[in-house]
Amino acid sequence: MTSKIGFIGLGRMGKPMASHLQKKGFDLIVLDLNQQAVAELVSLGSTAGKSVADIARSCNIVITMLPSSIEVEKLSYGPDGIFANAAKGTILMDMSTIDPLATDRLSAEASKHGLTMVDAPVGRLAEHADRAECLFMVGASDADFKTVTPLLNAMGNSTFHCGPVGTGGRTKLVNNYVAITLTQVNGEALALSQRFGLDITKTLAVLLGTSANNGQLRMNFPNKVLAGDTTPGFTIDLAHKDLSLVVNAAHAAKVPMPVAAAVHESFSQARAAEFGAIDFSGIADVICEVSKIQKPRVPKGWKPS
Ligand code: NAD
Repeated sequence: MTSKIGFIGLGRMGKPMASHLQKKGFDLIVLDLNQQAVAELVSLGSTAGKSVADIARSCNIVITMLPSSIEVEKLSYGPDGIFANAAKGTILMDMSTIDPLATDRLSAEASKHGLTMVDAPVGRLAEHADRAECLFMVGASDADFKTVTPLLNAMGNSTFHCGPVGTGGRTKLVNNYVAITLTQVNGEALALSQRFGLDITKTLAVLLGTSANNGQLRMNFPNKVLAGDTTPGFTIDLAHKDLSLVVNAAHAAKVPMPVAAAVHESFSQARAAEFGAIDFSGIADVICEVSKIQKPRVPKGWKPS
């Protein structure tokens, strides 16, 4: 087992992921702006890191699980950052969903310092992180993949080695394009069902029983927005950030994605109306609210027959 693991970013995903690592015997130094989250990890046996530089100096693997490229780059570069302070041979494993071009830049800079980079963004939902059932899309050299595999196995139950560094994040963008677009399609369809005055449980049972069935409708909607729970989960703000990454990457690669552009703007509208902090399944509520349609809800504990 590796001697010391740094974990920076103990949010909705990072906190359960770090907790699983700590509980399964890895030696963790943790950092977050939120001291409550740090205290929770310390109560499990982790050490509170004094600074990014402190973590970089004392660990041979540094994990980042931060909102976006902005935070990951901010903590990596500069005299107080990871690159300037980590010992040669340290692996920087970024598990956030960030711009793949930022990953390419980080990886190039890491190699100048004798470090290596792994991109291992996370698939599935926050509830899966709680149960150590994450799916990981990993871009890494074969040697680094072997080194980080025990950590990934402690946090999840499904790992794909997609190729060299940069391929994990690119796979993640392809995945999230489909997942986030489905929330928009589901939201519009459920709003239409409500406007028609249909019985929402019947509509759902039909959708889940035909080729309209999809993971968002099956796995996320019944527990979240349809149960009246729009606490995140995965926020509309983060989904909007991912759609921005998808649209920008598609522009750079000359791939037309008109549906992505439309869904991106729907999520922009939701953020402008101050719904950015709710769960992304809540896009169904946003559509209903702006159209003065009754929000779709199912009875507590409802399951399709
Ligand atoms: P979050 O906003 O809940 O957590 C981010 C954490 O980073 C917060 O605790 C914040 O305090 C911390 N942070 C921000 N800037 C910092 C800094 N400068 N120094 C130290 N800590 C800092 O986000 P999340 O939902 O945990 O998502 C994290 C990443 O994982 C995002 O890139 C997201 O797109 C991706 N993701 C999220 C989900 C999900 O369902 N929530 C699923 C898969 C992937």
